[in-house]
Amino acid sequence: MNDHFDRIMKVAERPSPVMVKGAGSWLWDRDGKRYLDFVQGWAVNCLGHSPRVVLDALLAQGAELINCSPAYYNEPMAKLAVLLAEASGLDQVFLCNSGAEANEGAIKLARKWGARHRDGSFEIITMHGSFHGRTLATMAASGKPGWDELFAPRVPGFRKVPLGDLDAVADAITPRTVAVMLEPIQGEAGVFVAADDYLRALRALTEERGVLLIADEIQTGIGRTGRFLGCQHAGIAPDIVTLGKGLGGGVPLAALVAAGRVSCFEYGDQGGTFNGNPLMAAVGCAVVATVQQEEFLRGVVSNGAYLTHGLETLAGERGHGEVRGRGLLQALELQGQDAKKVATAALDHGLLINAPRPDTLRFMPALTVSRDEIDQMIRRLTASLS
Ligand SMILES: *Cc1c(COP(=O)(O)O)cnc(C)c1O
Repeated sequence: MNDHFDRIMKVAERPSPVMVKGAGSWLWDRDGKRYLDFVQGWAVNCLGHSPRVVLDALLAQGAELINCSPAYYNEPMAKLAVLLAEASGLDQVFLCNSGAEANEGAIKLARKWGARHRDGSFEIITMHGSFHGRTLATMAASGKPGWDELFAPRVPGFRKVPLGDLDAVADAITPRTVAVMLEPIQGEAGVFVAADDYLRALRALTEERGVLLIADEIQTGIGRTGRFLGCQHAGIAPDIVTLGKGLGGGVPLAALVAAGRVSCFEYGDQGGTFNGNPLMAAVGCAVVATVQQEEFLRGVVSNGAYLTHGLETLAGERGHGEVRGRGLLQALELQGQDAKKVATAALDHGLLINAPRPDTLRFMPALTVSRDEIDQMIRRLTASLS
């Protein structure tokens, strides 16, 4: 290859194909090979590759106003904030560019609230195995194995408990605690669902003890699980919700959404050059307006059930393990096969899937994936497992 990919900083091991084009559930490399994409930019392209509504929004807004700086109001930022507040049942919205940035904002907001309303408390309880991003604070918040020692010194103020263990949270809450933060489904860890009962109990406990509940919905939000937010299955309202990934339908866009009573940032506390820019906000409006429709979400639920059925049938026939997840965020646990090797074989068979653990494959197709494409995925996966 004469492309000088060696100038790209080596932060990830990538296979050799160079991607040049995408449409819906399909991606093409520059040799013309076609892939059925069940990674979708890491659960980002919720409407598939280059969907019409995103293109239209980019072109229309791009022709009007791309960036007026965060020093001024623009119309798409206000429209998106209203859409997100309504869809989440919360009040105040801070738009930003990545999930990690949204979570940093959530951590800052919780600490500010603790300084003001809870005697200077600052500690946040998070979950073993969790993933909240790659900035220094969000790495410290994450419970990813092996991250404890990286980039020392570590940002202090996080305490870890096992997911699903309510007593452990109750025991960990002290006068220093300001919040509990978790993903409704741990995506990067390998798709581990926080049970609805547990989430409801956690909401009751945090209320009773006077600490905040922060839901990192960066992977589970924007319809991924069949509801607009993952925690809506449990019928709970967190104090703070973070969104990213699917929110931009492929472009960099994220959001920190908070209840009015915890929205205590003052001028100068939070900001960023690209935050709330009209181009990305206009795309976010188009995505949210599409995804929040009841019929769209019903489609995610029914295609999710179809995917579960396909994976369970395959697992039964081939002696593999459990199928986990919700909606169109699912995982298959393999028995006696290395998931990374299967994902590599799948690439040869024209299928893109992800292996978050040595024994687990993850599926995060476009929310617009068709049943025929799910069938094709199962066929290609079956071939890749042989
Ligand atoms: C992807 C992800 C993040 C980080 O988002 P970035 O946009 O990569 O910074 C944080 N939390 C969860 C749950 C995620 O899935």
